[in-house]
Amino acid sequence: MPRAIYDLSFQALEGALVADGLRPIHARSLWRALHRDGAEDLTDHPDFLPPLRRWVGERVGHADGFHALRPPVHTEIASSDGLTRKYLLRLDDGQTVETVLMGYTGRHTACVSTQAGCAMGCVFCATGQMGFVRHLTAGEIVAQVQHCRAVLRADGAGNTLRNLVLMGMGEPLHNYDAVMAALEIITDRRGINLGPARVSISTVGVVPGILRLAEEQRPYRLAVSLHGATEAERSALVPASKRWPLAELIAACRSYGASTGRRIFFEWTLIAGKNDSPATAARLAELLQGIDAHVNLIPLNPTGAFDGLATSAEAVGTFQRVLQDAGFPATVRQRRGIDVAAGCGQLRAARRGE
Ligand code: SF4
Repeated sequence: MPRAIYDLSFQALEGALVADGLRPIHARSLWRALHRDGAEDLTDHPDFLPPLRRWVGERVGHADGFHALRPPVHTEIASSDGLTRKYLLRLDDGQTVETVLMGYTGRHTACVSTQAGCAMGCVFCATGQMGFVRHLTAGEIVAQVQHCRAVLRADGAGNTLRNLVLMGMGEPLHNYDAVMAALEIITDRRGINLGPARVSISTVGVVPGILRLAEEQRPYRLAVSLHGATEAERSALVPASKRWPLAELIAACRSYGASTGRRIFFEWTLIAGKNDSPATAARLAELLQGIDAHVNLIPLNPTGAFDGLATSAEAVGTFQRVLQDAGFPATVRQRRGIDVAAGCGQLRAARRGE
């Protein structure tokens, strides 16, 4: 079976060409065609010199070579306003993952998956309820971004993909190496060239991953899903909290902030009667004292297997004000595409029974 060429870093691609007797200079043209232009068909590419054309003819699409194909779309749905589109993409082994493309005025954001399923088991999340299947490769993460860029090109929207969030299926820091390899490809200036500061890694609180991001001074935004301001409140919603307790997580965030100087975005899914009281908001503000924090409040996206309800608009406003009065920027995330099952894992869960 041919290997996905999207898995290769620039150096690895250059190495593959050199190993086949080509000069390194050809790597740049191939990289541009693949990553900047998103070409799937590399045959007779006008920018390629004859040796590279021959290499493509001999190595791309052959069993012992490479392929540059994006995963086919299994299912596609759009929100009623057409601004949010969700794709279930089929990977080489038949696994399916979700990718979401969200439109704003003049720009788009892609939300990609990093694993098929997820081992973290958050009770309100459709992916968590299906369990872990496998890690995605770097190429499978890159291919989701290329899928979104291809959709935008077909729409005539050109290169308007401005932001990337790793908030689809899976826990990105549980698949650290593949995620970092993918982000290096996605932010490479010779190719997709998405600014690192426009990439958000969302974690449920994998402490070793947060510390490693700081140690390696990775230039991405960090979003930490908290959902609870006491150990009991949090571990009832996020089982991973038993492994990385709240105190340890907050200590890791302080250390990350101190060593990188970066703001941390804390995600808080508001669930009626569980974690949406003003007293909880006050406890959260106390917990975050001393951290350069921004809190994103997300009214719950209902899933079939979790009986929690979304917080009322009034209670959302009160929660937000308590945080703001304590000096923390707090925003309420729009529930983009709630009518297209935009909470991660919901589309795959719905299609699994078919
Ligand atoms: S919310 Fe994220 S980390 Fe939690 S189960 Fe779902 S995909 Fe995994």
